[in-house]
Amino acid sequence: MYGTGIASSLWVTFKNIFRVKVTLRYPKQKQAMVPRFFALMRMVRDENGREKCTACGICANNCPTHSITIEKGKREDNTPFPVRYSVNVQQCIFCGICVEVCPFGALQVGHKYELSSYTREGMIHEKEELLLPFGGAQ
Ligand code: SF4
Ligand code: SF4
Repeated sequence: MYGTGIASSLWVTFKNIFRVKVTLRYPKQKQAMVPRFFALMRMVRDENGREKCTACGICANNCPTHSITIEKGKREDNTPFPVRYSVNVQQCIFCGICVEVCPFGALQVGHKYELSSYTREGMIHEKEELLLPFGGAQ
């Protein structure tokens, strides 16, 4: 019958008009992530504010996409640390294996997901960015 299509569409509109909206005005409004959401990982500091990471390389060796680059160095007290630790998010699949395999608890699930960049270099995230603030929320 002529007009039934319009009537049924209006009915759908009317039915949904009073429902709670599920859309957000991104990027001004952002959805709260559940705790288990995994995006870019974070690096944990020790009680002295230094990297907990010992640059052992276990995370890099277990990364299925070879996204982690580590350059090992030694501090003045002869303890090992990563001179450079970087993650290439062009390759990372956010599987969380690196966090799971670290024997020192030096990595943590991170929630930062806005990782796009206009350059390839911008997709490589270095230690300085990954490190959690000293004394901040861990
Ligand atoms: S993050 Fe953990 S597993 Fe990776 S190099 Fe550092 S200490 Fe080793
Ligand atoms: S989350 Fe997965 S893919 Fe990304 S760096 Fe860690 S182990 Fe590699």
